[in-house]
Amino acid sequence: MVIVGGWRLKYKKPPKPKKSDGKKFKEYRRRNDKLSQLGYAGYAEYLKGDDWKRVREDKLRRFPQCLLCERVANQVHHLDYSHEVLLGLRPQLLVTLCGDCHERIEFDGGEKRSLPEANAELRRLAHEAGLTRWLNMVKQHSAKRRSGKKARAKSSPYLYAAARRAAEYQERIRREAHG
Ligand SMILES: [Zn+2]
Repeated sequence: MVIVGGWRLKYKKPPKPKKSDGKKFKEYRRRNDKLSQLGYAGYAEYLKGDDWKRVREDKLRRFPQCLLCERVANQVHHLDYSHEVLLGLRPQLLVTLCGDCHERIEFDGGEKRSLPEANAELRRLAHEAGLTRWLNMVKQHSAKRRSGKKARAKSSPYLYAAARRAAEYQERIRREAHG
């Protein structure tokens, strides 16, 4: 506090910048960057596309029950938005859920959670439900990803197809920029 001619001027610290949505949702932004490398204009286009259709149907066929409540699952949650998970090369990091359980992990009240927050909530509920084996499996697969083992992804025909699409997409952008 500074006193000037009897006036007390209070210098307040500038308010801390609020944890902005941009930072909170950086995983979603990175996801969109990856999708554009794979040739998708955005997440909505990816969800409508063949890659996701194949990945989603395959996962739901093998895990038809909601992980948390064992009702019929009709949604698939990404634990991670790496290229490999987006293309279904790491199905262990996808989780089948019913609509209610998916909403419960994705939203806090009416507010959308960031991906790490949603995953933390999912892990918490899985822990409550005694899904220790699943929790350990996910931990292992997440650790593998961090250590950068991409051999499977490299050998996958899906990744070649996606890479080809990405190249075509970039070529189209280039042509449009010069045309
Ligand atoms: Zn459920």
